Amino acid sequence: MTTHQNIKDNLSGIMTRCEARCHALSRPLPVVVVVSKTQPPEAIEEVLALGFRHFGENRVQEALGKWPALRQRYPDVVLHLIGNLQTNKAKEALGLFDVIHTVDRPSLLEKIVRLREADPTNTSTRTKEFFVEVNLGDEAQKAGVALPQADAFITAAQQALPLSGLMAIPPRDQPPAPAFRALADLARRHHLHGLSMGMSGDWEEALACGATHLRLGTAVFGQVDRVHVDPVQ
Ligand SMILES: *Cc1c(COP(=O)(O)O)cnc(C)c1O
Repeated sequence: MTTHQNIKDNLSGIMTRCEARCHALSRPLPVVVVVSKTQPPEAIEEVLALGFRHFGENRVQEALGKWPALRQRYPDVVLHLIGNLQTNKAKEALGLFDVIHTVDRPSLLEKIVRLREADPTNTSTRTKEFFVEVNLGDEAQKAGVALPQADAFITAAQQALPLSGLMAIPPRDQPPAPAFRALADLARRHHLHGLSMGMSGDWEEALACGATHLRLGTAVFGQVDRVHVDPVQ
């Protein structure tokens, strides 16, 4: 079981290592996105009380259930969508999330653009920042634009949206650094600064390859109780 003290110790350990790594690499600190998917509001409040404000969720429905109430008390929270976005949830997502990391296909891009055009004064659109998710391993079952289509898709997204950068989950069972470097190269070619890469098991390598946004769940909260994880995505 994860206790409050564990969360505090985990985060202070991460931040100490992160600051030391950034100092050694002469680079600025990344945005630490605390991935709060499957976590109850009480656990999230522990992190909020420590001063962290960037949070990641992977499901629109779950985030809608948890965050509007928390946001009333912490209005400066920055909410990141890091999971696959169904086109029919795009409207709700644009109303809830500040940053969407998972723009990954033309149908979703077109839907987001249409919704933004329908709301020119941004009264119901909260999202100000987007990332294109890239499938670096070309794993058919994985989300993300495949590499052969990536250049054209990134260019289209850049023309249509305020695009900050690229996001990826490295291929399983391979060392992650080559994938991180490939994502950084792709971003550089498109003059994009943001690199959302690095999770609990590989964030230090991601930092060394230029990550600007780390997405950390297990390293903060401990292992998630599998009983509560719904495998159907
Ligand atoms: C769950 C998740 C994370 C966090 O993973 P950990 O290994 O628990 O840090 C990061 N990114 C995405 C897209 C996720 O779904």
